[in-house]
Amino acid sequence: MPYLVTIGLEVHCQVKTRTKMFCACETSFGDPPNTHTCPVCLGLPGALPVLNRHAIEKTLLAGLMLRCSSPPVSKWDRKNYFYPDMPKNYQTTQFDLPLCIGGGVPLYDHCYPTDHRKRIARPNHTIRLNRIHLEEDVAKSTHLGTTSLIDFNRAGTPLMEIVSEPDLESAEEAFAYLRSLQMILQQGDVSDADMEKGQLRCDVNISLRKRPEDPLGAKIELKNLNSISAIRRAIHFEIQRQADELDRGIPQIQSTRRWDDDRGETQLMRTKEDAHDYRYFPCPDLLPIETAPLLEKVRPLVPELPHEMAARFETGFGVTAYDASVLSSDRHLAAYFEATLGTGLPGKKVANFIINNLMGKLNEESVGIDACPVPPDKLRALLLLVEDGTLASNQANEVFGTLYQEPSREPAEIAGSLGFKKAESGELDSLIDEVIAANPEEVALVKAGNEKLLNFLTGKVMKAATAKPNPKQVTDLLRARLIG
Ligand SMILES: [Zn+2]
Repeated sequence: MPYLVTIGLEVHCQVKTRTKMFCACETSFGDPPNTHTCPVCLGLPGALPVLNRHAIEKTLLAGLMLRCSSPPVSKWDRKNYFYPDMPKNYQTTQFDLPLCIGGGVPLYDHCYPTDHRKRIARPNHTIRLNRIHLEEDVAKSTHLGTTSLIDFNRAGTPLMEIVSEPDLESAEEAFAYLRSLQMILQQGDVSDADMEKGQLRCDVNISLRKRPEDPLGAKIELKNLNSISAIRRAIHFEIQRQADELDRGIPQIQSTRRWDDDRGETQLMRTKEDAHDYRYFPCPDLLPIETAPLLEKVRPLVPELPHEMAARFETGFGVTAYDASVLSSDRHLAAYFEATLGTGLPGKKVANFIINNLMGKLNEESVGIDACPVPPDKLRALLLLVEDGTLASNQANEVFGTLYQEPSREPAEIAGSLGFKKAESGELDSLIDEVIAANPEEVALVKAGNEKLLNFLTGKVMKAATAKPNPKQVTDLLRARLIG
């Protein structure tokens, strides 16, 4: 029997700062273990925390982008528990006065899984947020047989916890939520939100019930999921598991489960009975903060959001909705597009070249757009050669291939060295005369209306030419001569 599915997400996201939340150690990824530590982030007795203003400002910026509000005063609390990755026995976090309250995450169509985009149940839907608070990340533990290793480089990294309302209804919405959120956080440079580097991690709460008027079913939490595709699989599995048990009359109890990606199943970790009592209390080492002056400081930094940018690209530059969504999905890509466009180039053609040729090449080479060797002004110069008729589009792609390898060269010079050049008027006339004289049958058919044969004649002219003119220019000349 079908059930109504209710999902809430808690996303932990590392804030992009140079130093940690409460000390001056550098935030790092991939450095040798335990090389960025001090008494504060090791949790040694008596060490005192110092607030990282940038982390607070970036969290407030995230809040502004997601339309959250902020309480006038926000404070810090201790969440008490013992775990080897948190040796001072409490985590400094925020309990009742977080930096951001309310707000929402818009679900972008192009952030749904590709195979699901034609079946979006709630287009243009926004998932409500409960809160965003700031805390410190814990150390990273690695378990090897009977020993465990702990790396404190991660301990104390500023971590935003973004808590949604239980507003999501499917695994695909959860997928779109994470992708959309990731994109927005990257847009504001709040976080790189790279799941592979553990910068974005997610807990998922799932409950099932039969009818909308029923109270929410028992909340089952899936802990620490760290890939978007795994999250989709885990939610599908968990919905099916709960539904099967409910069908067999087995009631669900509030519990926490882990996802085993290799086995493709969730496993019970603990039930409500062993839930922690964290005994939160205000942190005596840190003063509460007034949010108003910080909000005023970051308000001018709120960037255009991906959907706002997509709308501007569509109406301002005449690109399709799909192209606009692709171009606005990454702030580096959007900036590259706008820098290439300048004036005098049609948006649609620039978008096509960037999405098909440039992105294709970058994917092939596993290079991100922010590391693209071809600067936008060079691509612009190349596309202007197409626009003025010097190059055909396949020739432009060939020039681009060379430009990618040797980005210091000028596109026009590369085109010349490849023999691509715009024929001066008259220069092609004698060749065209010869081809017309040598192919009377085809010429007669073209004159009788078979325009397809123009390509055949164009090919003959191209073959006879010493330089390589733009084939479109040749076809146009032939058409003018034979059809008028
Ligand atoms: Zn430190």
